[in-house]
Amino acid sequence: MEALLPPSLASLKEALERLPGIGPRSALRLIQAFLRKPELLQSVLGSLQQVQTSVRMCRRCGFWAESDGGLCIICTDAGREEPVLCVVKEPSDILAIERSQAFRGQYHVLGGVLDPLSGVQEKDLRLKELWQRIRTEGYEEVVLALGTSPEAETTTYYIARHLADWPGRITRFASGIPVGSDLEYVDPLTLSRSLRERQPIHV
Ligand SMILES: [Zn+2]
Repeated sequence: MEALLPPSLASLKEALERLPGIGPRSALRLIQAFLRKPELLQSVLGSLQQVQTSVRMCRRCGFWAESDGGLCIICTDAGREEPVLCVVKEPSDILAIERSQAFRGQYHVLGGVLDPLSGVQEKDLRLKELWQRIRTEGYEEVVLALGTSPEAETTTYYIARHLADWPGRITRFASGIPVGSDLEYVDPLTLSRSLRERQPIHV
C-alpha cells in the first residue's frame, strides 16, 4: 500500500509511525487531517519548531523548561517549601503527581530506570546529579516514585542502598499503585493517598 503514496507522504507516514502510540492507521488519519486543514499543519509545524528551539531540560530537576534561565516552573516556585525530594522516571510522572495536589516538595527526573537487558546503565540516568542534590540541597526525605515494574524495583533498591548512610528518610509510595503501571495512568485520588501514606524503605 505504501507504494501508492507519493514519496513525501510515505516518508511522513513512516516518521509518524515511529512516535509512541501511533500505528499505521493513526498515521494515515493524521496525514489526512493535515492535508484537509493546512492551518492545522501550519500550527503543528510552528509549535514543533518552538519546542525545538526553546524547550530544554531544567538544569536542576530534569523537568521541561524554556531555555531562558534554565530552571522549570517548579524549581522557581518559592512556595514549595516541603524539604522532600521526589525521584521520578520521566517528566510526565511529575504532571501525574501534581494532578494529585498531594505534594509540595521538589522533584528529580531520573530519565529512566536501570534495565541491563535494554542497555540502560547507571551512567545513562541522572544519578550523579541526584547524589549531588541530596548532598547539597538540605532535604529531610527522599521519596522514590519510580513505579512498580521489576526494573523500577531494582532501581529503587539501588538508590536506597546508595543512600544507606544518608541521615534523612528514604520512602516510597504506599501500596495501591497497580503493579507495572505508569504513574500517569493512576487516578489522582489513589496517587494522593499512596503519597500521603508513604512507607520507609528498608535495605
Ligand atoms: Zn526544575
